Amino acid sequence: MTATSHQQSVSGSSADSFDIVVIGAGYAGLYALHYYRKLGYRVRLYDKAGGVGGTWYWNRYPGARVDIESMEYSYSFSEDIQQNWQWSERYASQPELMRYLNWVADRLELRPDIQLNSEMKTARYDEAADRWHLGLSTGESVATRFLVLATGILSAAKDPQFKNRERFKGAVYFTSSWPHDPVSFKGKRVAVIGTGSSGIQSIPEIAKEAAHLTVFQRSANFAVPSCNRPMEPEFERWVKDNYLEIRERELRTHVGCAIVGNEIRANPTKATFEVSEEERLEAFERCWNAANFSYYTVFTDILTDKRANDALGDFIRDRIRAQVKDPKVAELLTPHDHPVLTRRLCAENGYYLTYNRDNVLLVDISKSGIDEFTEKGLKAGGKEYEFDIIVCATGFDAMTGSIMRMDIHGRGGRQMSREWAEKGARTRAGMMSEGYPNLFMLNGPTSPAAFFQPVLLGEWQTRWFGRLMRRMDQRGFTAVEPTVEAENEWIQHNIEVADHTLFPLAKSWYMGDNVPGKPRVILSYLGGFSLYRSTLEASEDNKYTGFKLERAKLSQAAE
Ligand code: NAP
Repeated sequence: MTATSHQQSVSGSSADSFDIVVIGAGYAGLYALHYYRKLGYRVRLYDKAGGVGGTWYWNRYPGARVDIESMEYSYSFSEDIQQNWQWSERYASQPELMRYLNWVADRLELRPDIQLNSEMKTARYDEAADRWHLGLSTGESVATRFLVLATGILSAAKDPQFKNRERFKGAVYFTSSWPHDPVSFKGKRVAVIGTGSSGIQSIPEIAKEAAHLTVFQRSANFAVPSCNRPMEPEFERWVKDNYLEIRERELRTHVGCAIVGNEIRANPTKATFEVSEEERLEAFERCWNAANFSYYTVFTDILTDKRANDALGDFIRDRIRAQVKDPKVAELLTPHDHPVLTRRLCAENGYYLTYNRDNVLLVDISKSGIDEFTEKGLKAGGKEYEFDIIVCATGFDAMTGSIMRMDIHGRGGRQMSREWAEKGARTRAGMMSEGYPNLFMLNGPTSPAAFFQPVLLGEWQTRWFGRLMRRMDQRGFTAVEPTVEAENEWIQHNIEVADHTLFPLAKSWYMGDNVPGKPRVILSYLGGFSLYRSTLEASEDNKYTGFKLERAKLSQAAE
């Protein structure tokens, strides 16, 4: 289908406006464009990037790789796509993920309805007409009935605000917006600031090439083997033959991943200390040899019971120490300040072994932070270090950043960024916000996005919104938004669920801690996808309880 075939759209809207505008050409946005077009809507997708790919378009730093099995971190909606794409590795690298998403965009003929290099800057809701008016970075204005934000949970890079940043004469790169031209570290003195997932993936690759690498660590994180390896043809065949069962099982697991090693696994049934020590260690060992997400569901109480969590934490701490030759360095790299899994578990590929190299130095900045940048490098703890290149792997304004950076005005001119800055993200199920009708979020804040395979969640939410729009059209409704009560109830429920877990004990981006001044509240739903899904499906079956549906003002006046 092409753009021109949409002139006769569901709403019969004019050619210069759309039924649906989707912002973001990552996994979620591309599927939304495809699905809504198929429903007959006139859809346009905008992305500020120069290509499709979303987070994978920007995060092209050395070593970037997904930490969910490639066969699972892929679209489930199309048997054609599932069966015909071939992953070369168990955990796909960034270039392969880009090849996949570009292949999908071509196969579904999405490109005619995608406009790249076009950032949505402003969105204003016109209450009289039930339309959103969007202002783009290109200077264009666009009108749409429904606005779908597929802007990603980790796409708004955090500004670490290093003092005197402009003084440094060398090159500064951010992992979150890595240059498209290759960066050579050969013969260079390099610094990496940040030891989260991005730092942990890039450090081993940079160390292999640089003359010298200095890593500045403010906090240590838990990292486990990525377990990447070339795709085994038998494994690929087995998954492709059993996709139906695997996808169904994924939706019933807590994290949206069903494959552990070469098996399909269900949710755990046993608590950590219900089993013998031997059985417990065997279970941890299976995770160590399997995949990142398997740890989250190894036992029923791993995220809720501190003693159970410590058992896993101790297992991983021992493994970290065993890899690093210098005991002082090993101790610095071993986390003690948060329960394991309450910050995102990192997937590593030679990370700890990198500190055994002669050309790598770890600098602990847990007490001092970075003092300032200087002309020749940077100062930390009062000491100056000289570099040619500084790499910042300093993270994101997660979950809310990408939405709050757009100037969105709802009913009565209410401004989303101002309201969220004061009160934290306010949504019903991470899908919609009261006061901002017809604005739909995919993988939005307080949805399970950070704890559930986001490709599947985006697909499921896209279809839920699709059914809602169809129902609105059939019944003559032109605006939908959550009620204040339903929004409050969701926020309260989210907090209560999180308070039953160990997550509030850690300083993390899940809680908004990594951005100074951000309200401290859990940003991702921890109650599990099954409960999330049944809550939203029950609302749908019950004429959308928790949501207000309205008819057009003009037709009301005529009645
Ligand atoms: P991150 O986990 O937030 O890590 C940022 C790092 O930078 C932390 O070590 C942080 O220290 C440090 N930092 C931030 N500001 C600093 C400052 N002003 N001075 C010194 N240090 C500073 O960010 P990320 O590594 O980009 O990862 C974010 C998320 O993206 C991950 O949790 C994961 O969900 C996702 N991701 C996934 C993969 C993958 O494997 N598929 C790869 C990359 C990213 P503190 O901890 O002390 O704040």
